[in-house]
Amino acid sequence: MQKKVFIIGTGLGGLTTALRLSSRGYQIEMVEKYHQAGGRLNLLEKDGFKFDMAPTFFSMSYEFQELIEDCNIKMPFEFVELDPLYSVHFEGDQRSYLIYKDLKKLALEFQDVEPDFEKKLQKFLKAAGQLFHDTENIVIRSNFDSLAAYLMKLTTVPIKHAPKMFYSMWHEMERNFESFEVKVIFSLVGFFLGATPFDTPAVYTLLNYSELVHDGYYNVKGGMYKIVEGILQELEKRGVKIHCNTEITGFSEENGKISSFTDRSGKDWKADLFVVNADAAWFRGVILKRAAFSEKKLDAKKWTLAPLTIYLGLDCKVPEMYHHNYFLRRNFKEYAGKIFKNKIKLDKPYYYVNIQSMHNPDYAPPGKECIFILCPVPDLRFKPDWSDDHEIAGSIIHDLSERTGFDFHKHTETRIVLNPGHWEEMFGLYRGSGLGLAHDLNQVGGFRPKNKDEKYKNLYYVGASTVPGTGLPMVVISSRLVTERIQKDNGIVPKK
Ligand SMILES: Cc1cc2nc3c(=O)[nH]c(=O)nc-3n(C[C@H](O)[C@H](O)[C@H](O)COP(=O)(O)OP(=O)(O)OC[C@H]3O[C@@H](n4cnc5c(N)ncnc54)[C@H](O)[C@@H]3O)c2cc1C
Repeated sequence: MQKKVFIIGTGLGGLTTALRLSSRGYQIEMVEKYHQAGGRLNLLEKDGFKFDMAPTFFSMSYEFQELIEDCNIKMPFEFVELDPLYSVHFEGDQRSYLIYKDLKKLALEFQDVEPDFEKKLQKFLKAAGQLFHDTENIVIRSNFDSLAAYLMKLTTVPIKHAPKMFYSMWHEMERNFESFEVKVIFSLVGFFLGATPFDTPAVYTLLNYSELVHDGYYNVKGGMYKIVEGILQELEKRGVKIHCNTEITGFSEENGKISSFTDRSGKDWKADLFVVNADAAWFRGVILKRAAFSEKKLDAKKWTLAPLTIYLGLDCKVPEMYHHNYFLRRNFKEYAGKIFKNKIKLDKPYYYVNIQSMHNPDYAPPGKECIFILCPVPDLRFKPDWSDDHEIAGSIIHDLSERTGFDFHKHTETRIVLNPGHWEEMFGLYRGSGLGLAHDLNQVGGFRPKNKDEKYKNLYYVGASTVPGTGLPMVVISSRLVTERIQKDNGIVPKK
């Protein structure tokens, strides 16, 4: 008989799980607390402008290829490879650095600041590449039934990589490069994990290999939300029902199984199996009331940086900027050490700027431009009051104007500012943390909240805070891992 699966949350994790399970003959119904599907991979619209709300590019595009092959469908969106990947600007420096995948072109960018750059880079990337290929299948693409099984699996990673577990990404930069600029730029991938290079283990330099050699970065033609729209179309063909504006607040159990989840209006949702796409740690604590995930214990965990995001609709085009741009300063170590805990003023922050209408001209009316600015900031544990969000946004826009020579304030037609409190409220992100649980070694693999519940036999999890981790491709892998679990536990429902 066809089994019914109820999925809580329509983030990329929930949607791709729905796609995989419906391909295997499961009947799917989904609920979502926000007013439209997509979770953090969402779309904002205001005054004729559109904005990708959070993710603006991604790596490991082949994970999407795996997804569509698994579900036997055509790719419902078109990827555009970024070249250059991004540009980096340091305060007080007239020039910017363009980060190319073509290593010869990249070497020209750094020839003035790093002697023998190409040779050093080849050595650095060779080690990062070996790490990537030696761990990808073992750590990232595996389900672990227990901590012991995870630790056993780790023993199969070649021992030569072990030291990188014990020192930081920044230290690895210092071992390989001399110039401040190169060290800072290559350690930006630490921020992509939502942390800083000083507290991110050197093993994650494998991301440098992924960025520069293996697959690069991609955007989606027509905007990132095309991923969601494409999947939604497929789900509709399969009769998957999605109920937005529906927040799960409680549950009922029977004989060691979940019998139903209850939404805020009191309606019960029944099914044979349940998959939670809400944050896997938060849900266990707040909805299931697990002592191991109490507020105190959740607060003691390491969470990724929270976002302060600014969306600007401009009345004209911005001259001479690239699609993806980082604006940094010279106090990198001090800033990174203090920003998480709100120990540094936010008037001179580090930030990322994406000119969204460059990739997607129809995001802005003709002749106009839409801009996304992301500034990593302390989460609500360290800065609960965000009544100054517009003031901080104002100083970022002022700084950007000074550094580019283009008056963003003057040309702003429309503006939206979202602080960590908004992010928590919209998608249930714990304390406003943007990427979910951090990726310290004691919070990944067998240590991360599992994708199968500890107590209820018919309850599973997918998404950024369960295995393997955060970011769009990781979440697509997460849907594959939870699908494997469900199939293993429940037998294979014949594929339609
Ligand atoms: C500002 C920002 C920028 C980012 N940039 C990038 C990037 O450039 N590239 C990249 O790869 N990644 C990026 N990420 C990370 C990426 O967005 C996430 O890793 C990914 O989208 C997480 O997907 P998910 O399915 O796990 O969770 P989510 O997208 O959070 O989906 C979970 C869904 O569950 C819903 N939900 C929660 N609780 C309940 C409840 N009680 N009842 C009903 N529904 C509920 C939420 O509303 C949400 O829709 C960024 C994230 C942020 C915040």
